[in-house]
Amino acid sequence: MQIVVLAGGVGGSRFVRGVLAAYPQARVTVVGNTADDITMHGLRICPDLDTMTYALAGAIDPDRGWGLADEGWRVMEELRAHQAEPTWFNLGDRDIATHLLRTQMLAAGHPLSEVTRVLARRWLGADSRVELLPMTDDRVETHVRVADPHSPSGERVVHFQEFWVRLHAEPPVLGVAQVGIERATPAEGVLAALAAADLVLLAPSNPVVSIGPVLGVPGVREAVRSAPAPVVGFSGILSGRPVLGMADKLLPAVGVEVDAAAVGLHYGARSAGGVLDRWVVDSADAASLARLRGSGLAALAHPLLMTTPELTAEFIRAGVAGGPDGDRALAS
Ligand code: GDP
Ligand code: CA
Repeated sequence: MQIVVLAGGVGGSRFVRGVLAAYPQARVTVVGNTADDITMHGLRICPDLDTMTYALAGAIDPDRGWGLADEGWRVMEELRAHQAEPTWFNLGDRDIATHLLRTQMLAAGHPLSEVTRVLARRWLGADSRVELLPMTDDRVETHVRVADPHSPSGERVVHFQEFWVRLHAEPPVLGVAQVGIERATPAEGVLAALAAADLVLLAPSNPVVSIGPVLGVPGVREAVRSAPAPVVGFSGILSGRPVLGMADKLLPAVGVEVDAAAVGLHYGARSAGGVLDRWVVDSADAASLARLRGSGLAALAHPLLMTTPELTAEFIRAGVAGGPDGDRALAS
C-alpha cells in the first residue's frame, strides 16, 4: 500500500507517526511544506522538513516541540555576543549541522529534494518506510502583511518566521502571500506519488501556511483532484480553535472562518471542484456534519487529539473507513 500525506511540521509529523502506526505495511510519501523556509546567518533552514525528519527519527525535543533533543546553544550564544541579527531565531548546535550540510549541498547545485533525501537517510535509515519530499525545489516563502502603527503606511510585510517567532502572531493580519509560488514546480516525485497512491491524506496541519502552500504549487492541487486514490482530510481546528499554532490568526485573512466545517469547505469536495472525498472533524464539532454533508462533502466526527501515535492511528483508520451514516469505506 502506498500512502501520500500532505503535511506541515509539528502537527504534520504527529499525524505521519499515526499513519505509520495505522498501516504497518504501507510505504508513506510525505509531501512537506517548504514555504516556512528562510535563510539566516547564511544558512538555509527548512523548519517543516526538519521537524518531520527529527520527529520521525524520535530525535525531536519533546518539550520544545521543535529542534533536536540533547541540544547545545554555544553557536547562538556566540552570535548574540556579536549582536548578529536575527537574534530572535534559535538554532541549536546539532541542528546547525543539518543547515550547514543543506546550505553546502544547495550551493553545489543539488536540488532541495536530493538534499532532503540525504538528510532523511541519516536520520531515518536507508530502509525507512517514509519518503520525505519537499513540495517544490523552488524557493517559495510565506510573507504576512501585518498592521504596524510605527510604519508610515500603517502596515508592514514580514516573513512568516518573523511573524510567528519574533512577533508571536500578535499584530493584526491583513494578508498572507506565498511569494514565488506561481513560478514553482512540484519537486520530482510529487506528482508521480499522487498518481500511484492507494490513499491520499491531508494532515491536520495549518490550512493557510502548511497545506495551503503544498496545494498551491501549480500542478499539485490538480494532481490531488485527479488522483485515483481516495482523499481524506483531517481538521486541525477543534471547537473553533487550533490545537496549537496560529491558524486562528491567519484563516480570517484568507476569508475562512476559524471553524472545522469552514476549513473542510475551503478545501472542498472533489465532486465540487475541491480536493477532498471526506473531511474528518473532532467529535466536539459533530454538529457541523449536517452543514458539511449538505454542501456535498462526506464527513465524519471522531476524537482528533493526536495524544499518542496509537490514538492518532485509530482516528486515521476510522476516517478512512467512513461513518455509520452509510458513508462508504474509501480504502482498505
Ligand atoms: P507547523 O508547521 O509546525 O505549524 O505544524 P503543522 O502546520 O503541521 O500543524 C499545525 C496544526 O496542527 C495546527 O493548526 C494545529 O491545530 C494542528 N494540530 C496540532 N495538534 C493537533 C492535534 O492533536 N489534533 C489535531 N486534529 N490537530 C492538531
Ligand atoms: Ca510550519
